[in-house]
Amino acid sequence: MKYLDEYRNPDIVKKMFEEIHAITTRPWVIMEICGGQTHSIIKNGIDQLLPEGIELVHGPGCPVCVTPLEQIDKALAIASRPDVIFTSFGDMLRVPGSEKDLFMVKSEGGDVRVVYSPLDAVKLARENPDKKVVFFAVGFETTAPNNAMAVWQAHREGLKNFSILVSHVLVPPAMRTLLSSPQNRVQGYLAAGHVCTVMGWEEYDPIAAEFGVPIVVTGFEPMDIVEGILMVIRQLEQGRAEVENQYSRIVRREGNRPAQELIAKVFMVAERKWRGIGEIPMSGLKLRPEFRDHDAEAVFDTGEIHVDEPPQCISGIILQGLKKPDECPAFGRECTPQNPLGATMVSSEGACSAYYAYARHGRPGQQQEVV
Ligand code: SF4
Repeated sequence: MKYLDEYRNPDIVKKMFEEIHAITTRPWVIMEICGGQTHSIIKNGIDQLLPEGIELVHGPGCPVCVTPLEQIDKALAIASRPDVIFTSFGDMLRVPGSEKDLFMVKSEGGDVRVVYSPLDAVKLARENPDKKVVFFAVGFETTAPNNAMAVWQAHREGLKNFSILVSHVLVPPAMRTLLSSPQNRVQGYLAAGHVCTVMGWEEYDPIAAEFGVPIVVTGFEPMDIVEGILMVIRQLEQGRAEVENQYSRIVRREGNRPAQELIAKVFMVAERKWRGIGEIPMSGLKLRPEFRDHDAEAVFDTGEIHVDEPPQCISGIILQGLKKPDECPAFGRECTPQNPLGATMVSSEGACSAYYAYARHGRPGQQQEVV
């Protein structure tokens, strides 16, 4: 099938693996940033076909996983109000807050609805003028244009009953934070192709130069990922640290300028807390003051909420590439997709759910009984 088979051709992938094995002379640690790439790697066993010593670690590029518990608790508080229709993409409904999740709010009578686009939520606001319609705007640069468009449209129509609960984060500040950590193990990055489709890769040039790490913009098909790994290893072995584009069928250096302009009109860069990682300076987006009427935190005066993560959950360490899901003592025991303790198990892009779904239930010598 066109556009699928051509990126899953086993002969081409085999040749790429042969080159990886031929050129690798020492161990390297490479981080794939995006959770979608993590799932593709684990599902296809790509990490198991690499030379010994090439380690793939899983980065913080799963939007659900890095949404702070406090923000989920704010969503739960807003969604519980009788005057609210709370809307979200489906994967946020099962993410546990400190006491419950959005599904439980719905079962208790809250009007919680799954939508496929923030513009569906704008439509709901138009059709329900007696209700306050809120959209949970979670994600990276990838989803920011759609959310900006929804706010822009509602503002233009004067729909005062539409607001978004913003939890937008930006990739480059997180890459810098991980590389600046004294514990950092990352020597090369696979950058997320869809983020770069919107933002391009100009922002990554200074990171590659300052930290001396190769960054390869990479797609999501198995062949994309193997080629991205090959391109990173080539650079590492040759002592280069540049930004290269594996995903050239989609991504341009400058990205999507109209989308970037729309983001800049509606949002401004702000401090953001990342679940498991903590505050990263200027690593997120918030609505500009002129759109305050559409900012759910202002509309509902949610105030500050402080909550602690479940003590067993090491997802923050996993998202920094310092451990793997199967090193978590709760993995497959207290924590399963049916009963997730942390967001990396509940999210469809989370590293823990990938390891669970594709039966990575323990490393040699430390097999775990999965319940
Ligand atoms: S397995 Fe569960 S408890 Fe352990 S890190 Fe992953 S989400 Fe957290």
